[in-house]
Amino acid sequence: MRLRKERGIIVAFDMENVELATKLAEDLRGVEGNFAIKIGRPLEMQVGKKIITKIKEISELPIIYDGKIADIPYISRKIAEIAYDAGADAVIVQGFVGSDVLKEIRELDKGDLIVVIEMTHKGSDEFIRAEAERIALMSREIGVDGVVLPANKPERLRKLAALIDAYIISPGIKVQGARPGDAILAGADYEVVGRAIYGSEDPKKAAEEIYKEVLERCK
Ligand code: C5P
Repeated sequence: MRLRKERGIIVAFDMENVELATKLAEDLRGVEGNFAIKIGRPLEMQVGKKIITKIKEISELPIIYDGKIADIPYISRKIAEIAYDAGADAVIVQGFVGSDVLKEIRELDKGDLIVVIEMTHKGSDEFIRAEAERIALMSREIGVDGVVLPANKPERLRKLAALIDAYIISPGIKVQGARPGDAILAGADYEVVGRAIYGSEDPKKAAEEIYKEVLERCK
């Protein structure tokens, strides 16, 4: 189940509570709209790779494994392969590790390859920002499926989006400062939302409301 280059919401599953994760996966099954789930390390570390299989089976949604892979090609490929084999439809890899890592994972051809170009936090401006254009161009040349650009830095998002043909997923919504819809208006396809959904009292309702707000602002 590859991700389409269409507007949608990616719910970040970074919670440490496995019960909360499975409950939200159940709630999201059959939800109206273009949704996907991104499984982060805090959740994966609780139980291992089987959480990827489980959340996919329960939710029936596309699953992204967000290991932010950043190792030598051999190890990066191994991590990606384990995630794909467990059911991940896509894996996220750091772009700054270079083209050999991306090509190694690309060669597996077991699912989407999503590359982090620039990040949402302040420290990303210290080193990554200076090279982000080159990382974007490298990703384009390799033909990656998706890239990650920051929603809370709309000028950067707009500028880097112009260099990309892949789908763009963009975190930084709500807790990190951006409003639902900001990233799509600046050129992204998917908005990634974590704490504002799984940390709310009614996560399913929060997901639906955020999706509605995005659609209304991006008509
Ligand atoms: O909770 P919140 O909505 O801020 O979560 C943002 C999610 O996006 C987290 O899963 C984080 O790992 C991820 N992310 C990010 N900035 C990036 C890449 C990924 O915040 N550049």
